[in-house]
Amino acid sequence: MQNDTIAAIATPPGSGGIGVIRVSGPEAFALAQPLLRQPGGCTGIPPSHLLTYGQIVDPSTEEIVDEVLVAFMSAPRTYTREDVVEIQGHGGPLVLQRILRLVLAQGARMANPGEFTLRAFLNGRLDLAQAEAVMDLIDAQTEAGQRLAMQQLRGRVSTQVQEARQSILGVVARIEASIDFPEEDVPTPQPEELRPLITIARRQVDALLSGSEQGRLYRQGLRTTIIGRPNVGKSSLLNALLRSERAIVTPIAGTTRDTVEEVVNLRGIPLHLIDTAGITPGGDPVEQMGVERSRRAAESADVVLLVFDGAEPLSGQDRQVSEELKAMGFGGSADTTLQASMVRGTLRPVVVVINKADRERHVEIGEVHRMWPGAPFVVTSTLTGQGLPELEETVANLVLAGKTLHSESVLVTSARHQESLRHAAEHLRASLVSLERGLPLDFVSIDLRAAYDALGEITGETASDDLLDKIFSEFCIGK
Ligand code: GDP
Repeated sequence: MQNDTIAAIATPPGSGGIGVIRVSGPEAFALAQPLLRQPGGCTGIPPSHLLTYGQIVDPSTEEIVDEVLVAFMSAPRTYTREDVVEIQGHGGPLVLQRILRLVLAQGARMANPGEFTLRAFLNGRLDLAQAEAVMDLIDAQTEAGQRLAMQQLRGRVSTQVQEARQSILGVVARIEASIDFPEEDVPTPQPEELRPLITIARRQVDALLSGSEQGRLYRQGLRTTIIGRPNVGKSSLLNALLRSERAIVTPIAGTTRDTVEEVVNLRGIPLHLIDTAGITPGGDPVEQMGVERSRRAAESADVVLLVFDGAEPLSGQDRQVSEELKAMGFGGSADTTLQASMVRGTLRPVVVVINKADRERHVEIGEVHRMWPGAPFVVTSTLTGQGLPELEETVANLVLAGKTLHSESVLVTSARHQESLRHAAEHLRASLVSLERGLPLDFVSIDLRAAYDALGEITGETASDDLLDKIFSEFCIGK
């Protein structure tokens, strides 16, 4: 248990109906109690885990600062497993700041980002994967992302990781017993006994890894850049996709200056749609800057929607845009799915959109096919809405490759967890190789231990202080 008491405003900045100040630590009750004036002249600590009505009073001036509801919650049945006080005041920034200042003046320390959740982790209420799920739950962009975060918070990911760790530990124990106590007649385990046991652990790790690309998409979303020469209908397409989608998530603030970025919910995956100024060579310096930004947007995209104007023949500009995209590693082939391109580092997928289908067609479709062999094609009109559902379907298939998410799905969604799983899988593979080659069991055991530790980084048992600092510093203050 930590020995100081921390405090912070736990609700977001700005005005709201109510705002909450959270206090946690051994002195939480003693610090908060003198600030609270209870009705009927009651003094003392209010009953635990119940809301108490009262006023927050500045003890030095007797001024009433706010009318509040306060919850005193005794350890250990609290978020941090410490004594916690939550003061619900009126949700104005000045009011909340004043209450916080009073709490700090009583001797509390201002909490660091994520420190409440860090304490929950350090006091054993949550493991590391669960603590990270708190942030994912708060930041979830779609319901699917929220559900996956909730499963992780409930410990479903951790349970599977711990099962794999236990499998590994079982093998390590057998090997090490025979090494440590040879004189006590502990028989040396035979490779054929160990192999199936290691294979079980390997399957458990592989199972977690196999869903992790999909999981990451649900959490991070998919960067989808709309590219094409000017006037083909890129902005219209962005707007049409936004309109056709009932569940718009959130426009991302601050990204609308050069390229427009919006988020739509594509079957639970946050699709970050980026409309660009179009990659067109030449032009004045201002235009050039726009071109540069489009290039950057394309370079960082997971998927590109390449738009052509179906009512006009292909132009030199159209061809140039295509060439640039190919040079960046975009392409189409029968098995180009996003999963494949992420896992194997193959071509990044392009979806070709032939727009303005409501007008007479002048583009030569055969030529576009030859230019982008294997890439999926969709014919659209942003004016009539033709082809838009097919376009969404095409992108969804590319991404999900037929896999669907149900409400009880448990997927690894974090890149950090994925990395640790990869390390664990590599060490398990290496241990099998050592076994195969008949190397001394020490060698097998070293890799098994490394795999065990790699998995422990996910749940936190083997996480370094630096790693903990990094993870919790990404939280907001008050979480
Ligand atoms: P951008 O420069 O590629 O972003 O193209 P815009 O979205 O600004 O569209 C260029 C012009 O094409 C505008 O006048 C649009 O109204 C028009 N436009 C866009 N999509 C369609 C379409 O599907 N059919 C028709 N007929 N016109 C379209």
